[in-house]
Amino acid sequence: MNMLVNIAELLGQAGGELPFAFAISPVELDVQSQDCAFEDPVRVTGKVVNTGTVLRVGGQIHAVKHFVCDRCCKPCTEPQEHPFAEDFRRGRGDTDEVNSFDGDVLDLAALVRDTLLAAQPLSNICKPDCKGLCPVCGHDLNEGDCGCDRFVPDPRLAALQQLKLDD
Ligand SMILES: [Zn+2]
Ligand SMILES: [Zn+2]
Repeated sequence: MNMLVNIAELLGQAGGELPFAFAISPVELDVQSQDCAFEDPVRVTGKVVNTGTVLRVGGQIHAVKHFVCDRCCKPCTEPQEHPFAEDFRRGRGDTDEVNSFDGDVLDLAALVRDTLLAAQPLSNICKPDCKGLCPVCGHDLNEGDCGCDRFVPDPRLAALQQLKLDD
């Protein structure tokens, strides 16, 4: 999938700016996973600035993420905004570190995809202090205590107690 900005004119204008705006399907962008789904479309806005030496790309990704809380299993919707800023140089990109372009177009797809994926947390939780579900009865502990005895003895302590009993 491509997210192309035509920079033919901008290349001749040191100091010039070129705004861009995309609305792209998250499926095409290849950012969907089993753990989370982004609402269609993912929006990207920003501008390319010709600094005279590089093309400076800056913008913002606007996405709405749907996921199920890892702790309490509730479905959640989370609007996200992720800024990005990268310099592009002409060339064929000898290393992965350097964003490069060749010809009269910039392809922002990889930058947008990487930015969005890197910004996702390892775990999906509805709120930082989500208490999760009771392991005994499945009650949502965010809604109050269920009164179950959830005390799990430390296995090391239990082993010590066992030793004492054996004496
Ligand atoms: Zn939760
Ligand atoms: Zn319970």
